[in-house]
Amino acid sequence: MTPTPCDKHRNLQMVPFPSQFSTGQTFVHVCPVPSCARQHDDQGYFEVVNGQPVRAQTAGPSRIFSAKEKILMAIRARAGV
Ligand SMILES: [Zn+2]
Repeated sequence: MTPTPCDKHRNLQMVPFPSQFSTGQTFVHVCPVPSCARQHDDQGYFEVVNGQPVRAQTAGPSRIFSAKEKILMAIRARAGV
């Protein structure tokens, strides 16, 4: 795994740290800034909240639609598009 810059502190390289989670790898990279909870593994960036990894939501089947998208979907459904 190559050193990764923090996505909040792009001038800083994250440092290897023993993984606390069973992601199948021994090390993750953590941001050296104490107030920054950013970590990175082969699945991408995440933060640790209450001892659990919280990953940024990416577009996919489980994504939450915005109110605007819901309205558009309702209009399209009514129009039979
Ligand atoms: Zn950071």
